[in-house]
Amino acid sequence: METIVPNNPAEKLLFEVSSPGRRCIKLPALDVPAVDVKKALKGAKLRAKPANLPEVGELDLVRHFKNLAQKNFSLDRNFYPLGSCTMKYNPKINVTLLAQQGFTKAHPWMTEKDMQGHLELMFNLEGYLREVSGLAAVTLQPAAGAHGEMAGVMCIKAYYAAKGEADKRTEILIPSAAHGTNPATAALAGFKTTTLKEGPDGNIDIEDLKKRVGPQTAGMMITNPSTLGLLEPRLHEIAKILHAAGAQLYMDGANMNAIAGVVRPGDYGVDVMHFNLHKTFSVPHGGGGPGAGPIAVAKHLEPFLPVPRIVKKSDGTFALDSNRPQSIGKVRSFFGNYGALVMAYIYMTQLGREGVRAMSENAVLNANYLRVKLRDIYHVFLDRVNAHEVVFTDKNQAKENGVHTLDIAKRMIDYGIHPMTIYFPQANVTGGHGAMMVEPTETESKETLDYFVEVMRKIAQEARENPDLLHNAPHTTPVSRVDEKTASTNPQLYCPSCIS
Ligand SMILES: *Cc1c(COP(=O)(O)O)cnc(C)c1O
Repeated sequence: METIVPNNPAEKLLFEVSSPGRRCIKLPALDVPAVDVKKALKGAKLRAKPANLPEVGELDLVRHFKNLAQKNFSLDRNFYPLGSCTMKYNPKINVTLLAQQGFTKAHPWMTEKDMQGHLELMFNLEGYLREVSGLAAVTLQPAAGAHGEMAGVMCIKAYYAAKGEADKRTEILIPSAAHGTNPATAALAGFKTTTLKEGPDGNIDIEDLKKRVGPQTAGMMITNPSTLGLLEPRLHEIAKILHAAGAQLYMDGANMNAIAGVVRPGDYGVDVMHFNLHKTFSVPHGGGGPGAGPIAVAKHLEPFLPVPRIVKKSDGTFALDSNRPQSIGKVRSFFGNYGALVMAYIYMTQLGREGVRAMSENAVLNANYLRVKLRDIYHVFLDRVNAHEVVFTDKNQAKENGVHTLDIAKRMIDYGIHPMTIYFPQANVTGGHGAMMVEPTETESKETLDYFVEVMRKIAQEARENPDLLHNAPHTTPVSRVDEKTASTNPQLYCPSCIS
């Protein structure tokens, strides 16, 4: 963005507007004897000179941060179709209720008697997730999706150890359209990973699976719907093939926004899965805030779940049970990210059974609407009925105008839309073309979806008429394109001229 008149203090770093002696609050003069800190804290390591902090007034400070906040893209200000991330609107009532003292003043070391309400909430949330998964038991402890994967794969490992098959079951099969965290999890848990190729239709190649599965197979991790936004039509058959070989089926359920309330993974033979409460069940995310990745497991894996387990006693009260000798132990302190659990509980309670189903149906409808509305202009990778997200590519624009996915994504910013997920799935999966993975979610209105369609069509027109407009986008942000490689390998985290 062009600065018309330079030197607007609100646009500068706090270090640059710092003025010696300026303060937000001026303390009254000292009316007690001064203490010599050096003497009082003898032996302590004290700073030789004061920390180099900006000295600013309250208004400087407020304007600086308000200004920064307004430059930021956020779900509350912008359509945010970031595929695979389910950036749906998070109802404010989640936070309003979570801010009540009963929650904010709770402490994990309260006695069991004093935390009955909290235990009941978590017990009920486990129940909701058991119902959505169609599986026997749930733990809420893992703090994120990938963390849930780790807990789930550790349960699989412990299961084989208990059966005396740990040395034998050393391999986990992973389709190439699985989320990247899946192979990472399997490797971190000590398994060898083998990649399975999808057939040309984007589904698992059953014949390839049959060839690879064997006595060495501990399990398969399948992302369903896949990162191509497609449902695996032969999940049940896949489960049967694995079970016949004595192996487990792990389902990455981060994309449950497409199927929750419609089908239950347990009914298909899934043995263990994780949820992303911070995607499907409206816990705010982005910027690495606290999430929750509960896992659900079939009966035979229940003894291995992390402790403590929340149990309901015959008198109707709740208790914590850590006496589970086969448990993998704890994967997170206390109960996991409790605040995230409360928000998901509020959301699911409000939606109810029918609401959860409607959520998935509308998410799928919205994604298919975008596919159909844009497929004459943008190449759809595997143009068939998709789940809650759709993968376009830059095939047409790259060939005709030398405009690539990155250029299209950057131009979207000028129209006030957060770019979709780009270059994922990777080009080796999408036929060599740059992917644009769009997930509108169910919370967007038809008007917003139509605006998105209009913007994408306008950008395609710009690609034909003025490709450089796209090559140099964005044009409305304080900084346009950054050197991403240098920014990550040699980041400059401060203003050198401001630091003495
Ligand atoms: C987001 C996501 C994950 C990882 O979840 P985190 O909470 O970021 O660890 C795993 N699998 C899929 C399919 C995802 O979309």
